[in-house]
Amino acid sequence: MNIIIRLREKYAALLTDKQIPLMQSRIKILAYGLILMMALLSLIIINSLIRADYATSMRLSVSVITMCTAQYFLIEKGKWRMSAHLFLLSLCSIIWTNLLLYNFGINLVSLQLSLIIISASFYTLGKNWGIIYSLANVLPIVIHLLITRSQHGKITVTPLQLHDNSFMLALIVNFGILITMHYEFFKSFFKSHYKERELNTKLQSALQEAQEATRLRSDFLSSMSHELRTPLHAVIGLINILSVENPRKDQEENLAILRFSAENLLALINDTLDFSKMNEDKIILNKSPFNLNLLLQNILASFKPKAETRGIDLRLNIDFENAPLHIIGDQTRLTQILNNLISNAVKFTDQTGIVEISISTKTRDEDEVTLLFTIKDSGIGIPKNKQSIIFEPFLQANNNITKRYGGTGLGLAIVKRLIKLHESELILQSEENIGSAFSFELRYKLTPTSTPQENSPAVTTVISSISNLNILIAEDNIINIMLLKKILDQWNCNYSLSKNGKEALDMVKTGAFDVVLMDIHMPVMDGFEASRQIRELPDVNISKIKIIALTASSDVDIQQSFSYTYLDDYLTKPFSSQLLKEKLEAVVQQQSGK
Ligand code: ADP
Repeated sequence: MNIIIRLREKYAALLTDKQIPLMQSRIKILAYGLILMMALLSLIIINSLIRADYATSMRLSVSVITMCTAQYFLIEKGKWRMSAHLFLLSLCSIIWTNLLLYNFGINLVSLQLSLIIISASFYTLGKNWGIIYSLANVLPIVIHLLITRSQHGKITVTPLQLHDNSFMLALIVNFGILITMHYEFFKSFFKSHYKERELNTKLQSALQEAQEATRLRSDFLSSMSHELRTPLHAVIGLINILSVENPRKDQEENLAILRFSAENLLALINDTLDFSKMNEDKIILNKSPFNLNLLLQNILASFKPKAETRGIDLRLNIDFENAPLHIIGDQTRLTQILNNLISNAVKFTDQTGIVEISISTKTRDEDEVTLLFTIKDSGIGIPKNKQSIIFEPFLQANNNITKRYGGTGLGLAIVKRLIKLHESELILQSEENIGSAFSFELRYKLTPTSTPQENSPAVTTVISSISNLNILIAEDNIINIMLLKKILDQWNCNYSLSKNGKEALDMVKTGAFDVVLMDIHMPVMDGFEASRQIRELPDVNISKIKIIALTASSDVDIQQSFSYTYLDDYLTKPFSSQLLKEKLEAVVQQQSGK
């Protein structure tokens, strides 16, 4: 009695909820199959002994012992595979001995046994073993039937070999085993199916929640960056204005510190927002023509003062120096990549060091050019074991870097992603205390002809004439208005003010303006809507007025906005007065080119 209780406990322990339904059905199929088969064979053995059929009882006793061992492996050891093999082999041995030793022929019970072997082998051991066991007992049966047909001229399935009672019992029990096996297997099949459906539903809702969370995070970052950029615009703008209003020497120093801090804060906001957008695959490369030589010279010029104060020799080597390269691509993103790498090179190079920017042509045909960019420095270098982690966001080569050089550890992560977006990769070669070289290849389409403005001899004369422009400012923020006025006053520009999109629209209708500096977020009517309505005005001369949006949203937000199509250009706040000047100069150039 104790043994039965212990076996039941062990059997229940095998069927824990942790087991997948298929596993549970395997264990049940084996346990039930073995018990029923052992009970059946034991009864047949007794019956055979009574009828003095010792050969049958011996043969079946071997099978019962094998099945007992199988049950032991299953219940005691939990080794269901071994148990299944023993169970199937003992069944196969009954069929094979029927055929070989006793030449009993094929009776109904043998066919039932072969069906049990086929089903049990597939259900418990899977498809490969299923095929092997199926063939192992089906083939001998088929061969036997073919031989008997050639000998007797017909196929016979002998109806009776066992004693009547044993035969009936075997038929019923075998059917019972077949039904139990299929029942258990399909029960587990449906259980798995329902579990899978349940899991899919949970996954679906988890995915939706994650997407919603990402959207909220992205919205939060966008609005946060917008809110932070607006006051920062005022701070940087005022610093710029104060700097040109002849400050005293001590004030100049204070202003420099203020500018440094404000610009660092801005870089941090921009990097964080950029990085988050990149993670959401929201950055799309813009394709417009630009002069690469000009861009490189501008970038170099922006780093020159810093390099000079630190005693660093900043060099530019390009193999297309004498033939300006006009390419089509994302100028802003290339600038961002180069700015990050050059700024690092200058930052991590000590006095009297060298920073070299080289761009060489790898391949060039009529339409396309592949350029190899290398930014090399003779700075502190990066230890071998840190060379992979520095591309991870927020990671720096060591903890002292922030203290000594500042930075957030986002720059390289952004650069790496931007280069990947160009379908290329960033390669680093660096040795500690010797220097570093970051290189990457970019492929660009060549512009069919050079851009007209660069060849225009009239450029310098036109630049001075922005003072003739009639500018309409559409802006609701008092500080921003004050800033814009101060900037425009420096260049003696003519301007008028409107406090929202509606007012701007009404003023544009008078036809008195050349260009609108349009804030996007305004009360009553926002800048996008005002621009849309301006474009729909019946007078073509008025509806085609130049509109330059001024916005604290990110470049990506603006470019991806549907309403971007109504704008001629945009400036993201905080922008430098120089940039505004360039945009206004472009308007003058276009007007004079008409
Ligand atoms: P940050 O410059 O803001 O720290 P980056 O992602 O641009 O972040 O750089 C990550 C780290 O990689 C830096 O902190 C520095 O340890 C290392 N690094 C990057 N460029 C250089 C370089 N040119 N020379 C030496 N170390 C560098």
